[in-house]
Amino acid sequence: SKTLRLILGDQLNLQHPWFADKQKDVTYVMMEIMPEQLYVKHHIQKIIGFFLNMRHFALSLKQQGHHVIYFYLDSTENQQDFKENLLWLKQKLNIKKLEYQLPDELRLDETLKEIQKDFKESKVYDTHHFLTSRNEVRDFFRGKKQYLMENFYRYMRKKHQILVDSQLNPIGGQWNFDAENRKKYDGKTSLKEPLLFKRDVTELVAVLDKMEVPYMGEINKKEFDYPVGRQEAFALLDYFCEELLPAFGTYEDAMLKEHVTLFHSRLSFVLNLKIISPSEVVQQVIKYWELHQHSITIAQVEGFTRQVIGWREYMRGIYWVEMPAFKEKNFFNYSGTLPQWFWDGKVKMNCLKHCISNSLENAYAHHIQRLMVIGNFTLLAGIHPTEVDYWFLGTYADAVEWVQITNTRGMSQFADGGIVGSKPYVSSANYIDKMSNYCKSCFYDKGKRHGSKACPFNSLYWNFYMEHEEKLKNNQRVAMMYKLLEKIEPEEKEKITEQAKKYLESLNSL
Ligand code: FAD
Ligand code: SF4
Repeated sequence: SKTLRLILGDQLNLQHPWFADKQKDVTYVMMEIMPEQLYVKHHIQKIIGFFLNMRHFALSLKQQGHHVIYFYLDSTENQQDFKENLLWLKQKLNIKKLEYQLPDELRLDETLKEIQKDFKESKVYDTHHFLTSRNEVRDFFRGKKQYLMENFYRYMRKKHQILVDSQLNPIGGQWNFDAENRKKYDGKTSLKEPLLFKRDVTELVAVLDKMEVPYMGEINKKEFDYPVGRQEAFALLDYFCEELLPAFGTYEDAMLKEHVTLFHSRLSFVLNLKIISPSEVVQQVIKYWELHQHSITIAQVEGFTRQVIGWREYMRGIYWVEMPAFKEKNFFNYSGTLPQWFWDGKVKMNCLKHCISNSLENAYAHHIQRLMVIGNFTLLAGIHPTEVDYWFLGTYADAVEWVQITNTRGMSQFADGGIVGSKPYVSSANYIDKMSNYCKSCFYDKGKRHGSKACPFNSLYWNFYMEHEEKLKNNQRVAMMYKLLEKIEPEEKEKITEQAKKYLESLNSL
């Protein structure tokens, strides 16, 4: 009997066992469809990045001798719907069986479960991408009060024998090198240009325009930067090992107005499309470090490994434990809307101006820019978490729901009330100034809590703690803040609240 195998846009894993041998009666199908372009307004570079990689993937399969049907966005046969296209092929090719890989998004998981019913037979496979199965995080934390990432991370290190000795003790003598990492940029370590692929994508942009796909953000049509295919993904990984790894951990949290990516890998895009796997990435980084231990410290490698086998797998697990309820969480009952400058970067707050303009320009920002500048602001400003999700899901090329929503609504907005993080990630100008050079050339004064040109982060920060005292005061991790707050004179508190109120009423003109 004939089998149809569906491959989704974020399932571009050429190493999947499906492709190990060619089967005459198997047809692979991939499709670019409108609804996937419309559930949020995506950054143009994200759409182009997905389409180019999907097309490249289909071509690779064909070259290997597989039978592939590809629905282009503008092809006349394309009915712009998973179900309609699959049923059309079912009829046309006399298909009996539908096979697909487990989607990583609940919405698609449900859609495909429905479509499955229209076929006589069906089968679902794992994607063979993650180190954990879909429910492994759920099983790991069963019966525990809190989902502590650190515990899960150590379990992963031991289970997969990553950076551990034969007794399963951590190499380097400790599990965590945070104390050595996360420094402000020293102004000396040489900064490298990111590896960019500079591809001409004029034609594909024209297709999007012809089809009236709504999009946001900027693109240089002659020089599209993101990698396409496995070879370029590995080039990015090699570049990371050789040029960036030596300072990765040290400056993991640093921010500079002159340099967007610093020592970050920019691998999230190719990882999330499953072009390259987390174990390929981590194994290669560790192998490189083993050969260069004289020049690269364990702290750099540990810091990186933690992100990939710790945070990334953990977030994916949390997604499957907490969805769909997670999507509705709004711990602080926020209802604000994003200020207009989230869409053009025209804001006087220098940190936000840089982080947002860079995001619109590159469909990228590194973790601390997302967490401690942009997310910090939306949390302090009382923006509805759905608004925030929408912006993050649209803006970043690496944004797919399982990792975007857990990071945004959970880690960054604390809308889950403390499932992902144990306390809200908020800060005043103090932290931003400590980790960046944004404040020096800012219109606002980082040292003032109120009065003319007082940095908005300061009043909003203290206002946040005052406003949410009921909800937060029993949280041990923020007890310190309430002690500090007690020491602020009532008169000063009043001025802070007044200032915060003024700013909150005029978010658009910050
Ligand atoms: P590097 O700093 O080089 O890190 C290496 C890899 O570790 C990344 O490629 C990524 O795969 C993984 N990683 C690091 N931190 C995290 C994390 N917190 N969660 C999951 N994986 C992590 N990441 C996404 O992939 N997609 C998103 O949509 C996304 N949205 C985010 C939204 C907010 C509000 C925040 C605070 C973080 C978000 N992240 C997201 C996590 C993180 O910021 C990005 O993975 C990272 O910035 C990607 O850049 P990089 O590849 O250069 O990372
Ligand atoms: Fe950002 Fe405030 Fe610093 Fe300006 S002074 S860059 S607004 S933290």
